[in-house]
Amino acid sequence: MNRPEQTREASRRDPRYDILFEPVQIGPVQTRNRFYQVPHCNGMGHQFPSSMAEMRGVKAEGGWGVVCTEQVEIHHTSELTPIIEGRLWDDADLPVFQRMTDKIHEHGSLAGIEPCYDGLATPNRYSREVPMAPSARPVAYPDPVQARAMDKTDIRNLRRWYVEAAKRSKRAGFDIIYVYAGHDLNALSHFLSRRWNDRGDEYGGSLENRARLLREVLSDTKDAVGDTCGVAIRFGVEEMMGSDGLTSAGEGRDVVEMLADIPDLWDVNVSDWDNDSMTSRFAEEGFQDDHVAFVKKVTQKPVVGVGRYTSPDKMVSLITSGALDLIGAARPSIADPFLPRKIQEGRIEDIRECIGCNICVTADFTSSPLRCTQNPTMGEEWRRGWHPERIDPRHADETVLIVGGGPSGLEAARALGARGYGVTLAEATAQLGGRVLMEGALPGLAAWRRVADYRTYQISQMANVETYLESPLTANQVLEFGADHVVIATGATWCESGVGRENHKPIARAPGANVLAVEAVAEGAEITGPVVLFDDDHFYMGGVLAELLRRQGHEVTLVTPMPLASYWTQNTLEQERIQARLLEMGIGIVPLHNVTHIGAETAEIACVYTERTRDIACRTFVPVTMRRPVETLYHEVQAQLGKRENAPSLTRIGDCFGPGTIAAAVYAGHRYARELGDPASQAAPFRRELPRLADLNT
Ligand code: ADP
Ligand code: SF4
Repeated sequence: MNRPEQTREASRRDPRYDILFEPVQIGPVQTRNRFYQVPHCNGMGHQFPSSMAEMRGVKAEGGWGVVCTEQVEIHHTSELTPIIEGRLWDDADLPVFQRMTDKIHEHGSLAGIEPCYDGLATPNRYSREVPMAPSARPVAYPDPVQARAMDKTDIRNLRRWYVEAAKRSKRAGFDIIYVYAGHDLNALSHFLSRRWNDRGDEYGGSLENRARLLREVLSDTKDAVGDTCGVAIRFGVEEMMGSDGLTSAGEGRDVVEMLADIPDLWDVNVSDWDNDSMTSRFAEEGFQDDHVAFVKKVTQKPVVGVGRYTSPDKMVSLITSGALDLIGAARPSIADPFLPRKIQEGRIEDIRECIGCNICVTADFTSSPLRCTQNPTMGEEWRRGWHPERIDPRHADETVLIVGGGPSGLEAARALGARGYGVTLAEATAQLGGRVLMEGALPGLAAWRRVADYRTYQISQMANVETYLESPLTANQVLEFGADHVVIATGATWCESGVGRENHKPIARAPGANVLAVEAVAEGAEITGPVVLFDDDHFYMGGVLAELLRRQGHEVTLVTPMPLASYWTQNTLEQERIQARLLEMGIGIVPLHNVTHIGAETAEIACVYTERTRDIACRTFVPVTMRRPVETLYHEVQAQLGKRENAPSLTRIGDCFGPGTIAAAVYAGHRYARELGDPASQAAPFRRELPRLADLNT
């Protein structure tokens, strides 16, 4: 039997938030409140459909009045392999979506689907069909594939495929059916765009012509399913590229005016995805507000917009000011599927706010199931049976000592506390948070502190969790404490040697070479420039530190063996912004180079292809290459365990076990708490969804 994680009695909703719980009519259907989970990718889609369906059901349970799919392929001539999205090519795909809509309807929410024909955006690696587009162009991926220009028969076919998809969607139980023309990712937006459409017929040229296909598909969809389903349009009103694209003062607005009252709902945002899902490093909550503000003035139909909204007061002001009718969310609904319920129950302080890190987005880019820094249960609802708000009670009346109050120790304490164990959390420093304290103080990363804030508050409310600060424990103290279980969550430190992906031995250095570790730089050590920062880590740290050093007035050169600065941030949609920012700040970027020697005044760098070397000025060298687990305590405790009677169980988690993302550390803490006293979880870590073998006769 599960028990609610929240043991405190729920108070009543603050009447200021009543407006968020009003129903809204969307064509023939009505949503019970104004919380609207807009379509979002999840890396599960057609490949892990049970995981996808369960995750959507949990959102509905958490109070989202509308819960939508990700983009859903409607025809094999446009498929996104290896990216995993929804797939509704024919009736064989219906059961996946029926399961999803059933799960959503169980909780009284509406289910929305976003059919999509990607066209130019995909090379069709699985189906091997030649992609189709308004005009002949290479596809967006750097594959050696060109799309062909659609003729009138192709356009008729495409309209028919959209209609068939809409009818199938209705049969699958969807209440809201999208016509998707956003993100520069699909044929309808490509037709609209002067960049992609240079046709000379009635589908090219004037805006009216370029919008013809969109208007036709909207009308076709309304005719096909509009009697019982709401027909929504998802449209990027502003492409943030000036006159090369749609703008909210120009053609973006014109399109909304032209089609104003045809759809039953306008779901509006900025385009493309990089702009729509900006991280907190580059944009605040509500960053799209000014761009979409005009839409409500142009249409009589309800409008939903997004902007990483997590504050209920902000949500209320969006409604009362007439900016939006529905509060759209992808990331805030991932970080906290129960956000609406928590507002409803007057539990604002329990909201697990999105930190805007885009770890969720990386799942889509790496074709892996959705994960989230703040919500360790995301993507695990079906395969591990983890619910974001419920957890089994303790298996026995036992105690747990957790050493280290970073993300992993904090999450373990929170979840073990919710299970009812007697928990003691010991932290060496004066503050809980570990790495997020340091990282949250770096330029643009302040929102990351929410990881610690949420958990620190939660455990402060639990009578069975005790926290000791300024308590650096030794092995003897750990063992003398006498807990039944010991968890070591002592984190990791950045390595100064330069060993990493590129260098397998420490980088040679001359006497007088000045090398500083990441922590020293982050904590404001005295620095002499010029600084060379060697980024062989490729996520955010190298770029963020370069930014910090440059802000302090130093001459900074970022050297990386990869072709781009902060290479892996392509997966968080940030790379172009990071590189642009570094260049604009005057930071030198030397790609495709290793560092082979550190001198007192220079660093020797070598081309990764030719090995040709040259010296660059360097009086301080900062390697961002790898982290080493802080595991001495673990080994010391382990060495003594065998000598003791009634020895506790000993486990290390998070960065002191395997240094990784903050998301991985939170997940490790949560997993420990879930699996304590559950031998079944050791035998089979999670349920798998196996491919179905085809009948050999078909
Ligand atoms: P993770 O990401 O795995 O949670 P962090 O590095 O963020 O790891 O946090 C580790 C925490 O452990 C830090 O706050 C650090 O001060 C604390 N710590 C390290 N060694 C000890 C110790 N011996 N006793 C108590 N706390 C410790
Ligand atoms: Fe928000 Fe980060 Fe979670 Fe995505 S992964 S929902 S950005 S906290």
